[in-house]
Amino acid sequence: MQIEKDGYPNPEKQGNFGGCLFTVVLLFIFLGFFPLFNSPSKTEVPYSQFRSQIREGKVGEVIVGKNKVEYFLKTDLEKAKKSQSGKITRPEQVYVTVPLPEDQTLPKLLEDNNVKFGVRPNGSGGNWIFAALGWFIPPLLFFLIIGWFASRVQSGGGSNPLDATKSKARVYLGDANGAITFADVAGIDEAKAELQEVVDFLKNPDRYTQIGAKIPKGVLLVGPPGTGKTLLAKAVAGEAGVPFINVSGSEFIEMFVGVGAARVRDMFEQAKQLSPCILFIDELDAIGKSRSDGGVFASSNEEREQTLNQMLTQMDGFEANTGIIIIAATNRPEILDQALLRPGRFDRQVVVDRPDKLGRLAILQVHTRQIQLQENIDLSLIAARTPGFAGADLANLVNEAALLAARNHREAVTIADFNEALERVIAGLEKKSRVLNETERKIVAYHECGHAIVGALVSGQVEKISIIPRGVGALGYTLQLPQEDRFLMLEGELRGRITTLLGGRSAEEVVFGQVSTGASDDIQKATDLAEQAVTVYGMSQKLGPIAMEKPQSSFLGSPNARRSVSSIVAAAIDREVKEIIENAHHQAILILKTNRDLLEEMTQHLLEQEVLEGEELHSYLNRVKAP
Ligand code: ADP
Ligand code: MG
Ligand code: ZN
Repeated sequence: MQIEKDGYPNPEKQGNFGGCLFTVVLLFIFLGFFPLFNSPSKTEVPYSQFRSQIREGKVGEVIVGKNKVEYFLKTDLEKAKKSQSGKITRPEQVYVTVPLPEDQTLPKLLEDNNVKFGVRPNGSGGNWIFAALGWFIPPLLFFLIIGWFASRVQSGGGSNPLDATKSKARVYLGDANGAITFADVAGIDEAKAELQEVVDFLKNPDRYTQIGAKIPKGVLLVGPPGTGKTLLAKAVAGEAGVPFINVSGSEFIEMFVGVGAARVRDMFEQAKQLSPCILFIDELDAIGKSRSDGGVFASSNEEREQTLNQMLTQMDGFEANTGIIIIAATNRPEILDQALLRPGRFDRQVVVDRPDKLGRLAILQVHTRQIQLQENIDLSLIAARTPGFAGADLANLVNEAALLAARNHREAVTIADFNEALERVIAGLEKKSRVLNETERKIVAYHECGHAIVGALVSGQVEKISIIPRGVGALGYTLQLPQEDRFLMLEGELRGRITTLLGGRSAEEVVFGQVSTGASDDIQKATDLAEQAVTVYGMSQKLGPIAMEKPQSSFLGSPNARRSVSSIVAAAIDREVKEIIENAHHQAILILKTNRDLLEEMTQHLLEQEVLEGEELHSYLNRVKAP
């Protein structure tokens, strides 16, 4: 600490520096303006008068400027000489005249009459003050700014620009971090088991070094957002009882080339002093992006490249077994530079995936530890209804449920709170304020019943239908929650999903003979699914199992890019997609026409109640007939 402080200017020097500067400024200004106070008086005369005065021998000295001529009379010159013997001074009275443009005869006239004449060095006179200020102000500003920065250093507060090269790592010492352990991480048992080994390296390094084994330097956690990567890294430090140095990849990159590299160096220095420790780099992709891609813009990534190079060098630079283990996290492993992944750097990759049903139950148990639950609440029901949820989503769900219970002045959280919270998370908040008119309500009610009836026949359980507006755009919704985790979807199921999505719009067609704008989201989803069936899953008979899209991100679920296909294939894709959609649409209409009476009955009930669920809903849906 003390050593670092020495680098800063000390407070006393600061004060003096500031003071000196001030006197210098004053002096300059004073000198600069002093001549203004006794500047000579100028009299303008016509050019013709000037010429005749020369001829009469009255003119003593002439200064020829660009657009004007200044001169002194012989009598004034003599007076000035007399008044101050010794010193050369200029007379008070200056005459100014404007010559005719390009008058070439003036020099000859002056020579003939023996007048002293010359030209001012830069052509124009009198502006030397501004010239001086022009030279003087920029450095002044420069010094003022430096002084200001320096004074901020001295006051020690806030971020310090001279500190730019310091890493922004946050350090959590062993005990302070002790709060988080493996007990707080659930549902990702494989990842935990892998990291258990790291804890062992940190706790008993001797066991490994005696045998001559090299302890790995880096572990890379990859997985979708919210699955607990950051949490896991903290837990490793907590379990091993070592300091946890936390830094995010994006904190290295600055506008200035070289800053990131300096920060990386600084971070490793810090780690060496704290070893054994965990150095955690979150969002590694911010610096670790592959150097090969970047295309035309590659040169603009100078800073990131230097930072990455420094990172590679530093990782090679420290010896194995020094007790520093680097854990990095990313959700885009596919874009990382290959050099980062080779043995000796991040050679271990641990996948932290979304939890399965048992995992979700375990996570729910962790997060409900501090929460008052109603006695017989069955968390496994909630776990079953939340496939695809990551740890962060579940933590959020528990909190929403607890908030709801508190808002309703309940002592404990009930299953109903969880169900409502789940709907909120999936479909958004209820919007009671969005009031629909009678026609709109009717359209929405038929639409939702259409989804439910078609869904019941071709794609399994429907849990709830509602015409209470929710979230951003939903006027009504049909809730179809899966009962178990599915890892595959059969072709028939996929087509069934598309048919269900089109059920709403089909109901509008069957009942009203025309469609509304409310089905756009359904259509979007149905088309996406149909396109994926053709281009990703190879479900089209005509095109066969040929991949037509490039996978882009395995964890973030961003849309894929088309491979370059010929226009013939592109047209074929479009045709196949259209056919799938048309078939589904046709089937939905058929189902609804077959069940027309049921549709009417259900819709009337839904309009009265706004919500249909549970037994009531099932008694309707059990009556759905296949066409
Ligand atoms: P990531 O870094 O993978 O994006 P985080 O570790 O930041 O996700 O997780 C955010 C929060 O979600 C954690 O603080 C924790 O409360 C909760 N969480 C995520 N995964 C788990 C898990 N496996 N077990 C318990 N809680 C979890
Ligand atoms: Mg994270
Ligand atoms: Zn719909």
